[in-house]
Amino acid sequence: MNITKRLLNIGNRGGQHLGRAGRHEHIVLDADAAKRTVRFVPSLRKAPGPAIWHHRDCPCVRVAYVHGIQRMKFSQSQADVYVPGGFAAAAALARTTHLCIAAHQDDVEIMAYQGIAECFEREDRWFSGVVVSNGAGSPRTGPYAMISDEEMQAVRRREQRRAARLGAYSIQIQLAHPSAAVKSPVNADVREDLVRILSACRPKVLYVHNPADKHDTHVAVFLRCLEAIRSLPREQRPRQVLGCEVWRDLDWLPDCEKVALDVSDRPQLAKALLGVFKSQIAGGKRYDVATLGRRAAHASYFAPRATDASLALAFAMDLTVLTKIETLDVRTYVRDLIREFRDDVTERLDRLS
Ligand SMILES: [Zn+2]
Repeated sequence: MNITKRLLNIGNRGGQHLGRAGRHEHIVLDADAAKRTVRFVPSLRKAPGPAIWHHRDCPCVRVAYVHGIQRMKFSQSQADVYVPGGFAAAAALARTTHLCIAAHQDDVEIMAYQGIAECFEREDRWFSGVVVSNGAGSPRTGPYAMISDEEMQAVRRREQRRAARLGAYSIQIQLAHPSAAVKSPVNADVREDLVRILSACRPKVLYVHNPADKHDTHVAVFLRCLEAIRSLPREQRPRQVLGCEVWRDLDWLPDCEKVALDVSDRPQLAKALLGVFKSQIAGGKRYDVATLGRRAAHASYFAPRATDASLALAFAMDLTVLTKIETLDVRTYVRDLIREFRDDVTERLDRLS
């Protein structure tokens, strides 16, 4: 029984309740008593009889927080919300523990496989994906050479849904913004859509593009994410924010600054998820081979004097500090990392010359 259904069945009774999300308390209080404390919030449903008040940690309350999202309109009419398990969209978003916000269809599977694998077939962890752009203008050859840009966008949307199904994501949202809108700092639509999503879940880990990526749309999506996160109350911000690899890897990061993500779990799933995006692969880009190859290369080339601890690694940049200190400029942050890289290279040359 899912959380929403359980809430319906509770009626106006208080007391303990045991469900898939574990045992939790429903408390019948009069409204005045409940309002005197910040620890309880009202039930989202108006049942006859005394009001039920939920502790803030109650899974039902998380549904209440995000109840609006089922009616929520994202700014683009083409936006697509897909819940592979048929769960209510609001609850599917609320239970998300690992969230990836990426620019294009297939980026999620390239950059956030660690989160997908960590949540796969788990009841206590849920991965969700957000794709911000509409996927227009991708290069194409072979069977996709003659189809229109609109048809290509539909193909890419379907491929992303297929990946979400295969990876057992909690929810897959495709916001369908034109790339130009994503790249415009004065266009508020992307930021507002992201605020809606981030307000409706409490991910432990958020995977985003890293600010040293060489694709403009990727960097723009990262900047819109950062703006959205910084606009949220501190307690609503993701606990950890990781900048991931797609266009340009992070091998250059000094080892002490690298977050090494073990992505060796379920290699068949990793391969299948990348293989879903046939329109991109047939379009002349072997992202599937390249991504698995990069992960294997990272694993072997990470530590020169140690045997491989993993068969596949992905590197990430820990960006959490940027979400905690609003005055920290992202350019300064990245420049300092590049300076560390420069110092590492020149120090070795100086020492050995
Ligand atoms: Zn991309």
